[in-house]
Amino acid sequence: MRILLLLLLCGSFLVGGAADTIPTMAGELVVTPVRHGTVLLQFAGKSWYVDPWSQADFSSLPKADVILITDIHGDHMDPKAIEAIRKDDTLIVAPAAVAKTVTDSKVLANGEKTLAHGVSIEAIPMYNLTRGPEPGKLFHDKGRGNGYVLTMGGKRIYFSGDTEGVPEMKALQNIDIAFVCMNLPYTMPPDEAAEAVKAFKPKVVYPYHYRGSDLNVFAAGLEGQGIEVRMGEWY
Ligand code: ZN
Repeated sequence: MRILLLLLLCGSFLVGGAADTIPTMAGELVVTPVRHGTVLLQFAGKSWYVDPWSQADFSSLPKADVILITDIHGDHMDPKAIEAIRKDDTLIVAPAAVAKTVTDSKVLANGEKTLAHGVSIEAIPMYNLTRGPEPGKLFHDKGRGNGYVLTMGGKRIYFSGDTEGVPEMKALQNIDIAFVCMNLPYTMPPDEAAEAVKAFKPKVVYPYHYRGSDLNVFAAGLEGQGIEVRMGEWY
């Protein structure tokens, strides 16, 4: 009875999907889809989180060595989630708009690079081209938020953040693993996301931050492109 109860409880927790293990030139990279835009990467003994959000349960997950934050919206910049996973020496990398709130962030602007634990971190623009809350306004203004490309043991891993299929995404080169957003009204629909992914041809793409989107449309849009679409349990 006690075991059954435990199983039932575990089933209701939002600990995210199963982890994928990816070989690199410097050992294994373990990718765990956590929730919505929250991703955990474990590499060379360090734990890296992208956009930790407190809708996830971090109690069974490791503390963060590095936290990357893309933007100011609550599902990306969440002080409560940061508090749940940070240690004394956790490095937080974020754009300047986020550092106004998360004041001990290391600020990276679009196009800038830094290095942490032997991993290169490059900030990529993320923004809306057309979509916004009212005419003349955008949900994400160019320059405010960062997508990121990390290089871990020679593997290049891209996180889109909240964006439409902007030229800077389409121009990315040699991406091994891409995490690409889709959801309306804030970012883009799945067919547009597929078009953008086709342009930069990552080896593997995980749709993430897709609540309410039809992933069949995304996968169909990439059929025959030689791009592996990997579905994680994000919700
Ligand atoms: Zn978002």
